[in-house]
Amino acid sequence: MSKYCSYCGNELAKGESICQKCGRKVEDTNATISVVSGIIGIFFSGIVLGIVAIVEANISRSKNDKHFSSTAKRGLVLGVIDIVGVIIAIIIRHYVG
Ligand SMILES: [Zn+2]
Repeated sequence: MSKYCSYCGNELAKGESICQKCGRKVEDTNATISVVSGIIGIFFSGIVLGIVAIVEANISRSKNDKHFSSTAKRGLVLGVIDIVGVIIAIIIRHYVG
């Protein structure tokens, strides 16, 4: 699947995050949503936000020729941390409380 620069319409090469024609950074909305959900999920121990982060990272990957951008990777890791954090919290509450 080809991607195009949202500023000048130039066709972008695989995994390219900066447009060769106008030099602007190409927006990866799904990866951004993934990272934001992952970060909020850590503070609110949100398993749903963790799942959102993982799903959005994978959407970003499929749009990016099955390649995780650095932002998508961050979102994915944050999503996993969210979910693992919630599971650990449940286990601790089960044995301590
Ligand atoms: Zn451009």
